[in-house]
Amino acid sequence: MSAPVMRSAQVPAPKEPLKIVEQAIPKPPPEGLVIKTSFAGICHSDIHLWENKTELGDGKEMTFLSDPHNFVLGHEISGIVHSLGDKASADDPDIKVGDRVVIYSFIGCRKCDVCSGGSNQLCPDAIKGTLGAQQPGGYATYVSVPEKKFAVKVPESVGMDTAAIIACSGVTTYHGVSVVKPTLEELLKLRGKTKLLVIGAGGLGLWCVQIAKAILPPDVRVISADITTSKLEIAKAAGADDVILWDPAVDESTLVERTKEISGGGVDAVIDLVNNGITTSRALNCLNYGGILAIIGLFGGSINIQLPIFACKTHCLRGVYVASPQHLRELVKLVAEKQLKPPPMSYFSLDQANEALMMLRDGKINGRALLKMDD
Ligand SMILES: [Zn+2]
Ligand SMILES: [Zn+2]
Repeated sequence: MSAPVMRSAQVPAPKEPLKIVEQAIPKPPPEGLVIKTSFAGICHSDIHLWENKTELGDGKEMTFLSDPHNFVLGHEISGIVHSLGDKASADDPDIKVGDRVVIYSFIGCRKCDVCSGGSNQLCPDAIKGTLGAQQPGGYATYVSVPEKKFAVKVPESVGMDTAAIIACSGVTTYHGVSVVKPTLEELLKLRGKTKLLVIGAGGLGLWCVQIAKAILPPDVRVISADITTSKLEIAKAAGADDVILWDPAVDESTLVERTKEISGGGVDAVIDLVNNGITTSRALNCLNYGGILAIIGLFGGSINIQLPIFACKTHCLRGVYVASPQHLRELVKLVAEKQLKPPPMSYFSLDQANEALMMLRDGKINGRALLKMDD
């Protein structure tokens, strides 16, 4: 009898169409597990990984993978536990075969200080251990996970499609909101009210607005900015207190003035989910004294900071890259408790992985795209 097989959509080489490959289902690592994939989210960073580059501004580029050949994308993964390693079965009864789980993919080397301390996303070797980058990811019917602690149980009230996209787009924005929260709380004591500007009202923006309303004090006004009116309407429905249309046809100083007007003088924190240089510079120009700007998006580009103004205004600029395993555990709980709604989702089969990735690249996906695996 032949061994049971799994299927995956592999990137043969940068910018080449994904191809379906069949292979044996892997054995679980001793301390880990293998899941049967339910859904795999298609993230914008998958485009960068597929191209193996992102723009740094001034014509410069950055590559991600040392070996960008025959790899499997997908770092937003939910599935059912298929098998457990010998050691994994013995030491932790929490997760069993048949459980619904979401996977933390930004695994790192698992040996260095930051990995041991639970901030795997900060590992200098993060990309080597990341599922869907240098390790096989979720564009596959089965996925091997090196340690059981990277699997988080999904409550019955949370859909497995929602669970998958929590693992990157959701948890990254949760991390972003957590980063600006202390500054907003501090300024709230001084000013009585504060304002958070969320730039981008796409898939990440909708998570961000809901999470901000769920975990920030009620006196924080959440304002959503985007270049598209229809997206702003959805952001408003998701809970944004105000919205601002950043119409690309309008000149820069007018947009900054409008933003200050709508926000009542400026904002105290910004989460920039686009981060293309233009948005980031504009955000700094709208930021109040003592404010914080968290930059999340990987659109690409660079900014010019007027350093004396930055110092005098006591601004803080903070990068946010995905999140920790603990952030994922917290967010899964929050989504279940507060019944946070996922952004609109479009579904594709594994065989359509290439088509879906190209649609995302060409801006033809509204919300998030997911691969739904066959039962
Ligand atoms: Zn992602
Ligand atoms: Zn490490």
